[in-house]
Amino acid sequence: MFSPVCKERVWGGSSLDKMVNCKNPGQGPIGEAWIVSDHPEGKTRIMNGAFSGRFLSEIKQTHQTWFSPFPMAKFPLLVKLLDAADDLSVQVHPDDAYAITHEHDGSGKTECWYIIDAKPGSEIILGHTAKDRSEFIELAQAQRWNDLLVRVPVKAGDFFFIPSGSIHALGKGILLLEVQQNSDTTYRIYDYDRAGLDGRKRALHIEKAFDVIDFTQSNDHPKPRIVYEDTIERTVFISCEYFTVEKWTINSMHIFAPLEVFLLIYIVSGNGHLLYEDGLLHLSKGLSIMIPANMGKYRIEGSIEAIACHI
Ligand code: ZN
Repeated sequence: MFSPVCKERVWGGSSLDKMVNCKNPGQGPIGEAWIVSDHPEGKTRIMNGAFSGRFLSEIKQTHQTWFSPFPMAKFPLLVKLLDAADDLSVQVHPDDAYAITHEHDGSGKTECWYIIDAKPGSEIILGHTAKDRSEFIELAQAQRWNDLLVRVPVKAGDFFFIPSGSIHALGKGILLLEVQQNSDTTYRIYDYDRAGLDGRKRALHIEKAFDVIDFTQSNDHPKPRIVYEDTIERTVFISCEYFTVEKWTINSMHIFAPLEVFLLIYIVSGNGHLLYEDGLLHLSKGLSIMIPANMGKYRIEGSIEAIACHI
């Protein structure tokens, strides 16, 4: 179990306090809860067991085999909850090659979103209508955002894959779980001309954004693959070079085989127990846990809907 790092954001809402106990230490609303993170901008601590109070990087040094059969330079994933009471800036993230050359972050940012809740009429921006780079720049410079940006209606249970280079923005009224590469590099191209928490407009990064935008991308999205087993329904949303993300629906009990790599699980709804060789953990909505690699067999009992991800 992890204790989240809570982040004040100009666009944040009020749900993360209830969900994961994110109390606001400052003035502004809480927009993000980093629920499993080993990023320098916000490291989550382990909350239970022998390693209570430690960071993932500390465990990774002493228990390398809990993570992966291969040495990992840094923890590869970052899992967040985002609560948007207002529209987020329109943005893009670099790929690994660009981030390594131009940033200190060391990796690019491919991400994905699982929508936990959305008010009626909620939308995200994902993709653009330009046929090439010059048309994109022309429409952006003319501030013709409605012509350039593709709006997609969303509802609870939807999933979106956002590879690096994709133009995207979270819209107001949406609460989601984000699984991403362990990076915090964002290039804003449009911020609705509004002021940030300090009363000034937030910086835009137009030149870098134009360097990394995928101008040729199609607006097709990967289709989820549903696997029905006796005791579990798995919806595999995405399996890419950075992560696999799936939804589990368990109604009474399911026994899991060991994985070669660590697994992160976020409980979306329901109640139950995780039973493993060394003990038992109560599972409830909002909890995030890590199953170490090669932990042996374990089982989940109860009625649970969860998002699971691994490298
Ligand atoms: Zn993003």
